[in-house]
Amino acid sequence: MMAVMSMLNPATGEQLGSLQEATPAQVEDAVARARLAFPAWSTTSLAERLDYLTRLRHYLVDHGEEIARKISEATGKVTLEAYMTEIFVTVDTIRFYEKHAYQMLADQPVPTSIVLWPKKSYIHYKPMGVVAVISPWNYPFQLAIIPVLSALVAGNTVILKPSEVTASTGLLIEEVFSAVSMPDGVVTVLHGGREAGQALVAARPDKIFFTGSVATGKKIMAAAAEHLIPVELELGGKDPMIVFEDAHLERAANGAVWGAFTNSGQVCMSVERLFVHEKVYPDFLKLVTEKTKALRQSYPDQAEVGSMTSSQQIGIVREHVNEALAAGATAVTGGLPSSDSMYIAPTILTSVTSDMKIMREETFGPVLPIMTFATEEEAVRLANSSPYGLNASVWSGDKTKADRVARQLDSGNVCINDVIISYANPHLPFGGVKQSGIGRYRGPSGLQAFTHSISVIHDPGKRKREFNWYPYTKDQELTFIGLTNLLYGKLQNVNRRTLGAIWREFKRLF
Ligand code: NAD
Repeated sequence: MMAVMSMLNPATGEQLGSLQEATPAQVEDAVARARLAFPAWSTTSLAERLDYLTRLRHYLVDHGEEIARKISEATGKVTLEAYMTEIFVTVDTIRFYEKHAYQMLADQPVPTSIVLWPKKSYIHYKPMGVVAVISPWNYPFQLAIIPVLSALVAGNTVILKPSEVTASTGLLIEEVFSAVSMPDGVVTVLHGGREAGQALVAARPDKIFFTGSVATGKKIMAAAAEHLIPVELELGGKDPMIVFEDAHLERAANGAVWGAFTNSGQVCMSVERLFVHEKVYPDFLKLVTEKTKALRQSYPDQAEVGSMTSSQQIGIVREHVNEALAAGATAVTGGLPSSDSMYIAPTILTSVTSDMKIMREETFGPVLPIMTFATEEEAVRLANSSPYGLNASVWSGDKTKADRVARQLDSGNVCINDVIISYANPHLPFGGVKQSGIGRYRGPSGLQAFTHSISVIHDPGKRKREFNWYPYTKDQELTFIGLTNLLYGKLQNVNRRTLGAIWREFKRLF
């Protein structure tokens, strides 16, 4: 039986309609259609593929405000954030592909050693086939559409399974693709929840690109392992922010407040652990407290902070805050979220300890726990004492120190004197270390990750044989001993006997 998903505006409780979940048979059918569409799409020129992206960019620019409003309705985020982080980031990424995809996907010549003369070598980036993209609810538009576009540019056909929590954005993405008349089967949006995601993995796509929680990522990787399907996992975070005593304190306070509370803290790269040098802690705390108290919370505009998107997430935030308060933490602003409201007041917690859930597990809500440190070494140790490693930030006026600390952090991405923003540069690869994920997307390596790197070595084919081929001779053995010494060892070991052998073997090639 087909399950029905209801679509809801979390900020107002308004019903936005309902949607049928895809059945396993529909999932299989979609994958089969994507497979049929693959040969034509993968051999369509890159210029033509990019032409669809250009059309999409124009469509998004022309309809950006309307699309942002719909994303706000699905998530409860303020419209400015929807526009800035979902529309702007997407069109910026499209432009990046329009400008740089040729270079990133072009055959890449590489050097070939003299021993392999006269061969030439290059890397060819070959589309993989059908790519499955499974996406989350916190940035339901861009975290779905950017991986989809990356896979398409690289020549794959794509099945997207967006999050059921923000199902209306899945519909929106479908509309956007039909507005640019993508060829049949090239992009399919499958609506549904966990079961649809499982069915998609079971339908054996050629690559799975997953963004979501660590728990789901592990399940997907285990299911994919059955068929050795390559997976890329963009998972959760517990990002540290380190503020040194020589940082621009007001800037750092503004950065902390935005980094912790943007999108109601439902950001994989939110500041979830703040470490401040003890010398500046009192001044810094005063600044972040004032700035947090000044935040306006409402929907859909004239506010900095909107509502939460997922009621399930509110339960997790409550649990973390509750446990911290019970164990002696102090809520300087905000406090224990109410269980019957989708709005959580931005909360600053002090007197927290490393063993509290609020410092160990991903909270994914508007909560900023703050601790102090005394030395650089202690700051690095505290920041690295997490199973996650997605993003981190270092705040200091001393460039050398900031760079030194940045390099010591176990984190896929690091910002210096800023937060979250590394994601905004499409030239930079993005991804996590430790439990925050496997693989990179964005940047050249992120686009190439949607291809197989095929190595091609090309011999002109004019000689009758090679040094290493049959029949084996004593001269051949001496040739390799001679070449090894000549190229990598001691010249004095190369004697007349080996040189003679090399010469005779050389003549045997023709
Ligand atoms: P989630 O893991 O619950 O769900 C993500 C997607 O997986 C949804 O589409 C869901 O329907 C699907 N899914 C669930 N179970 C599945 C299964 N067994 N097989 C296949 N698909 C399945 O995550 P969420 O709650 O939607 O998103 C929040 C999480 O995502 C947070 O942990 C956050 O940090 C993380 N996240 C990471 C990044 C990143 O880039 N690293 C970005 C945004 C969010």
